[in-house]
Amino acid sequence: MGRIRVLSDIVANKIAAGEVVERPASVAKELLENSLDAGATRIRIDAEAGGRRLLRVVDDGHGMLRDDALLAFERHATSKLSDVKDLLSIGTLGFRGEALPSIASVSRLTLETRSPDETTGTRIEIAGGKILKCDEAALGGGTTITVRDLFFNVPARKKFLRSEQTELAHIASLATHYSLAYPGKAFELRHDGRELLNVTPVSELRARVFQVFGDQTVDELVDLGVRIREAPADPEEDPRAFQLRGFISRPQIQKLNRNSIFLFVNGRLIRDRLLMHALSSGYASIIPPNAYPFALLFLDCPAEEVDVNVHPSKTEVRFRRGTFVHDFVRDSIREALTATRPVSSLPRTPGAQAAARLPYSEFSQRVENADYGAPAAEPTVLPAAEGPLPEFHLKEQQPIFRPGRFDFGAGEHAPAAGQPQTFQAATGTATPSPRRSTVPDTHGPLPGGSYAEPAASLEVLRDLRPVGQIHDSFIIAVGPDGLWIVDQHVAHERILFEKVLQQMAAGSVEKQQLLMPLLIELTPPQQVEYNRIAADMEGVGFEIEPFGPRTIAVKAAPADVSAAEVERVLFEILEIAEQQLRQATFEEIRRQMAASIACRAAIKINTPLDLRRMEWLLVELAQTEFPMSCPHGRPIALRYATREILRGFHRI
Ligand code: ADP
Ligand code: MG
Repeated sequence: MGRIRVLSDIVANKIAAGEVVERPASVAKELLENSLDAGATRIRIDAEAGGRRLLRVVDDGHGMLRDDALLAFERHATSKLSDVKDLLSIGTLGFRGEALPSIASVSRLTLETRSPDETTGTRIEIAGGKILKCDEAALGGGTTITVRDLFFNVPARKKFLRSEQTELAHIASLATHYSLAYPGKAFELRHDGRELLNVTPVSELRARVFQVFGDQTVDELVDLGVRIREAPADPEEDPRAFQLRGFISRPQIQKLNRNSIFLFVNGRLIRDRLLMHALSSGYASIIPPNAYPFALLFLDCPAEEVDVNVHPSKTEVRFRRGTFVHDFVRDSIREALTATRPVSSLPRTPGAQAAARLPYSEFSQRVENADYGAPAAEPTVLPAAEGPLPEFHLKEQQPIFRPGRFDFGAGEHAPAAGQPQTFQAATGTATPSPRRSTVPDTHGPLPGGSYAEPAASLEVLRDLRPVGQIHDSFIIAVGPDGLWIVDQHVAHERILFEKVLQQMAAGSVEKQQLLMPLLIELTPPQQVEYNRIAADMEGVGFEIEPFGPRTIAVKAAPADVSAAEVERVLFEILEIAEQQLRQATFEEIRRQMAASIACRAAIKINTPLDLRRMEWLLVELAQTEFPMSCPHGRPIALRYATREILRGFHRI
């Protein structure tokens, strides 16, 4: 008996309705998901003209019986669920039984399939939803679906398709990210006969990330490992384990949009605000609030814990225990970042900080309107100075595809500025130039083995010896692994920020009583903001009383802020409240209050420090949770690795 059944009206009506076919990539997504649901281990996608002329998905899955093949094109015909209660725990990627009929109604579609239970296969041709042919055919196992001339009969939709490159970019992004979600399967993508992706099965996610992005990138990412947390279960239920795996970028890598964030829930690529928020909370005060990391996150949980029947294209989900999931993801990210404590190294080229090239998969933008192979410069790391973010011109993006991996552009594997290039030196992959090695060494032996790079981590901060300052602003320190430059202001800012946060959490913020209460007049809007956050102001160490209709009297302030700065801090906080209140949570506002206090109270640049103070600063910095960046996301310490120094002197 066949597998596919037409759903009853009751079930069908409970399924989020809507069109699934928007562009070639949505066709690719549905076909790919079907292949995965059919247990395929090899999936090949062929596209022509950005998928508009042709899109074909070939799989080696379990195929379909002849009767099923015909039934598959009926609306709400599916083999994946039958009952309303099945909707509560969907274990397959598909379940709506709508994709094939929808695709077939707006294209010329050919289905070729054979189930191992039948000796011959079936070939069905459909155009604009009408079955033209249904024949027996001698076919191997598995299923091939070819979709030609998408929207040939819906010119209005066709007009909305973007350029060939854009549509291809979407398909490529999709194929790549599904390949990352299923490392044990082989994926291939070809466009106009040209191979864009070709990965063989591997046993680990890390190996697949390597296949797709290359070794350089793997080294620059933080591996989350496998993190498991059990949700508090109802008494009559089994414990519910949630698992998170994946890779996230080091704080130095800051993207200007969300395009490098990929979220998978139970193997399904989704967009989800809750997870997105959890991710940015994980990075809060490590990267600037308007920057985004690269992230590849796989969350797995029992099917009952997540409702995937929220959106017609199945890209949104709803969690049964949203808060738990949010906190689990946020904490995992924070823990991983705290444990690694990655360090920044000196940018190799001047100005590169603002225009670093980053390899990550932004095909959606890069492939757009571009020729293959040309290098791309992309402003992905924030400029060190404050000010507006660099403009991001999508049109100028270039493709990054090459067979089996992405082409990171000219400079090949030269790491982008702001990324820990010294890691490369550490693994010895940098080859010394022959010219240098022929210089006779008349200056004695190299410092005995000491230039072998220890793990590039900020753990070493505590062992540094300060030797002086540049411009009374940057501390120069030496350590076993090179020369360090520490920005004294941001270092102190980080120390104070964490101190204030801790004190806030413990409800024991240090305050100072002001000799004279400071009277501050507020505008009516400021008055409104003030009333809203008055309790939080107390939490960060202010003691304020109303004094007349629009005036407040500040009697005490956070201990670290000098009396002269109190008024500025206060207005800054009101401004934060005004800007953020509508979007941000109170937790974020509190964080920003702490950041504002820390910034005002921290040692300024252009302040001479004696060695004892510098040492104190380094030791305190080493004890912070995130010594790598200030609460606004700027780097704190740069390292000039011993190996780089040796190379600079042509010693190696
Ligand atoms: P859904 O995936 O929601 O069930 P579809 O319209 O995508 O709905 O597919 C309808 C049915 O066709 C599926 O339930 C499945 O039984 C069958 N099918 C589709 N694609 C394949 C494939 N590549 N291999 C085997 N069976 C398939
Ligand atoms: Mg489907």
